[in-house]
Amino acid sequence: MPSLRALLRSAFLLLCALGLSFAGCRKSPPSHPNVILITVDTLRADRLGAYGHAGGLTPSVDALALDGVVFERGISQVPLTWPSHAAIFTGTYPFHNGVQDFTGQPLSPRFRTLAETFQSNGYSTAAVVSSFVLDRGWGLARGFDSYDDAFAGQEFLQKNISLVERPAGESVDHAIAWLDARSKSTQPFFLWLHLYDPHSPYNPPEPFRSQYAEKPYDGEIAYADSQLARLFSWLKQQPHDLYGGTVFVFLSDHGESLGEHGEREHGFFVYDSTVHVPLIVKPARSTPRAAQRVSDAVETIQVGPTVLDLAGLTDPIQKQFQAPSLLPFITGQPHAPQRAAYSETMYPANSFGWSALRGLQTSRYHYIDAPRQELYEHPSDPAEKTNLAEKDPAVASRMREQITQLLATYAAPAAPDGGNATGASPEVLEKLRSLGYVAYKAPAASGSKLADPKDKLSTYEDVLRATDLISAGNFPAARALLARLEHAEPNLYLIPFLLGEAASHNAQWKEAEKQFGRAAALNPGFDQARMGLARALGLQGKAAPARDLIGTLLAENSGNFRAWYLLAQIEAAQRDARASRAALDKVLTLQPNFAPAFRDRGLLSVAEATYVSASEDLSRAAELGLRDPAPLNSLGICYSRMNRLDDAAANYRRAIEADPSFAQAHLNLGFVYERLNQPALAKQEYASACRLDRRLCELIANRK
Ligand SMILES: [Zn+2]
Repeated sequence: MPSLRALLRSAFLLLCALGLSFAGCRKSPPSHPNVILITVDTLRADRLGAYGHAGGLTPSVDALALDGVVFERGISQVPLTWPSHAAIFTGTYPFHNGVQDFTGQPLSPRFRTLAETFQSNGYSTAAVVSSFVLDRGWGLARGFDSYDDAFAGQEFLQKNISLVERPAGESVDHAIAWLDARSKSTQPFFLWLHLYDPHSPYNPPEPFRSQYAEKPYDGEIAYADSQLARLFSWLKQQPHDLYGGTVFVFLSDHGESLGEHGEREHGFFVYDSTVHVPLIVKPARSTPRAAQRVSDAVETIQVGPTVLDLAGLTDPIQKQFQAPSLLPFITGQPHAPQRAAYSETMYPANSFGWSALRGLQTSRYHYIDAPRQELYEHPSDPAEKTNLAEKDPAVASRMREQITQLLATYAAPAAPDGGNATGASPEVLEKLRSLGYVAYKAPAASGSKLADPKDKLSTYEDVLRATDLISAGNFPAARALLARLEHAEPNLYLIPFLLGEAASHNAQWKEAEKQFGRAAALNPGFDQARMGLARALGLQGKAAPARDLIGTLLAENSGNFRAWYLLAQIEAAQRDARASRAALDKVLTLQPNFAPAFRDRGLLSVAEATYVSASEDLSRAAELGLRDPAPLNSLGICYSRMNRLDDAAANYRRAIEADPSFAQAHLNLGFVYERLNQPALAKQEYASACRLDRRLCELIANRK
């Protein structure tokens, strides 16, 4: 009699054979080609040689273009990194999949992704991403055997922007290492490589920094291309024509405005400068090919259907796709006319309470639906400077109607997700702010007439500037700018919020209380303002109202670990170590990698002279990336009390490395050297301690 396991297995294989797909339903290795999808973030199409740039920034991508098909008018569905990638990977419009900006929730598990598709069709799958904004927390890691996002949460605690982005050189190394490790495998692979370099800040490494000193954005592109050259040349050196047999898709998630239309970066508008992206498809050598260049406007959500066709796969995701494959363009087969390409941005609406923007383009026209609508004719006006909406009302109203139809046809599925309806977690918002995104959530817009983002551009830019000034520590300038802005925008909750932030940075807690209170009154659902208010109250010793406010926040979301952490700080300020410890325990249950909570709990233990548990917490905080000198010194003290003298010395040295003028750490290190019988080293440390803090000299002298 066959075993139950064998019966289950044959039933499972039957389901697989019927075309039903499960996570574990890997078909036997077929003769499907490998697929490499490359997205280079924030890359304007007009910077590539293949798109007419004369500067020679992208020789390796241009060479790929010669082997493939160039879609001259690739159009991104949304000019923001995470929503654009979510659209590409699901083949669905942002307004359908719900990932419309970064104040929303992660991708719903109801949407199948390209990675899941390749995985369940027998591919080995890997992603190498280069920015936090694509880390696994957002839901794109599903279906990847390996998801290389080296942006563990602890790095953000240091708020060091350079740690948040991984340079192309490292990401390409990781991609080649993954390819190399599986080079003996007969399984086909799907690799997604994401490079982030052209995203601001623009600081390319040498020699590109000097070479493009006047155009650092171009320098980042040239640098990224130079790293892709290594990937292409590695592939070309592999046996069995690995390069030729691989399907490549190269594109960008969005462009960069670089001051056009008054926008510095991307996300606020949907002009061509941010929605027109390069899109290059190189089929595997077996695919017949007719076209070299395609001038129709095409959508980046067509990438999914196209790679499935080029890989020869049939999969349930094809029912999910909302736009057709580009294969007929590539092979020159007859096809229905390409419909107009759609773009949107909800960013002005969701963060500021102004109107959303939606655009539609054909190879000739670009229409933008806004309170004051816009129409541009591309061949004669590529920079989109002359608005024809009033001159050509028939075209404008026809395109507006097409947008209405598109929104109705692909409306979001009715059932809301069980996810966090209030949007991204405070932790995510904090990280996004450290990346320079103004990740705030405006109150839901009412039915009244919404402002046109065009008319609010200077307000938007001033908010960004004020945020930059606060990050740079220039509070007087930030305050002056915000005061001016408030005159014009008395109801914009972000202004008192930023004034509260500036006051907090200056430890002006009374002022912070006032400003955060005003922001919370203007936008009651805005957690960050209420958190700021609770902190300001707590730090003035007003523990009772602070506790009440945190209680409200936790009643709404008991998983808000930052609120628990704030409670721990307020209890510590009240000298209630027990209550503080209980709140820290809660933080670490919710967020086991939150280094500051380990640090604070360790310091409570030091004060209670329980050195073993203190050392465990403090060393965990250090492992997670905290390099504050004071807790490292405390960790040294713990080890010293535990007679682990070498560990003690090592941590005092780390404290000194973090702050060479830390007199107490020099003194402690001297003590340990003395106990380790190293008088010369001890003497050296005592001398440093005495030089740095005269009060210690006497203590040292008395010791001898
Ligand atoms: Zn991006």
